[in-house]
Amino acid sequence: MQDAGFVPLCDYPGSDTPWLCSCAACGKQSRPRYWLVKNGSRCVWCAQLRIDPDEAQDVMRSAGLEPLVPFPGGKKRWKCRCLTCERVVTPTYANVSKGRRCRFCSPRGLDLTAPGLVYLLSHPTQFALKVGVTSGAAKADRVEQHTRNGWTLVRLWNVPTGDDAETIEEAVLRWWRLSLGAPPAIHREHMPQGGCSETASLLWVDLDDTVARIDMLVEQLSQTDVE
Ligand SMILES: [Zn+2]
Ligand SMILES: [Zn+2]
Repeated sequence: MQDAGFVPLCDYPGSDTPWLCSCAACGKQSRPRYWLVKNGSRCVWCAQLRIDPDEAQDVMRSAGLEPLVPFPGGKKRWKCRCLTCERVVTPTYANVSKGRRCRFCSPRGLDLTAPGLVYLLSHPTQFALKVGVTSGAAKADRVEQHTRNGWTLVRLWNVPTGDDAETIEEAVLRWWRLSLGAPPAIHREHMPQGGCSETASLLWVDLDDTVARIDMLVEQLSQTDVE
């Protein structure tokens, strides 16, 4: 165990029983099993397989986000208050640790408070769909950039804010990627105007289903506004 960087804190409990140890490198405790360590398993904290909730909280705070609920796990949405704009936002720890910040304070060039637009495009020869969002004064331009590059406009949805538009886009992408298993369909170099990461092949996703899905999301959004 010592060769693997562990300091056993109690007597050997058996090969397949969790064995309380501290890590010589990071000082944190874990319960590795002897046979796994013998086969190369190492400290879960050092390998970042486990995330210390206190450290995760520190990472969020140094990114200007005050957690409002206990650490939910690295890849789950974590309700925080932005210390800059005071809005409640729900980034994941994984994204924030990679540099993501409050979506209102450092948006992707999107005005989140101005009226928003969700658009759905199809590409006849690439056999793909693209969902996109835009807001404020740049609205019409963004769609035109795509139609100039061979995309056909399927539908536009006007929504109250850019933030609403972004929420809908994220929900569509989650549905495409996680529920339908569709990867991005277009390579970066075939979309000089950008936006390839919000595409999906029509082999995986269906145009009418996607339109219906966005209709439903827009509808849900208007219902939550009423409450
Ligand atoms: Zn360690
Ligand atoms: Zn903010």
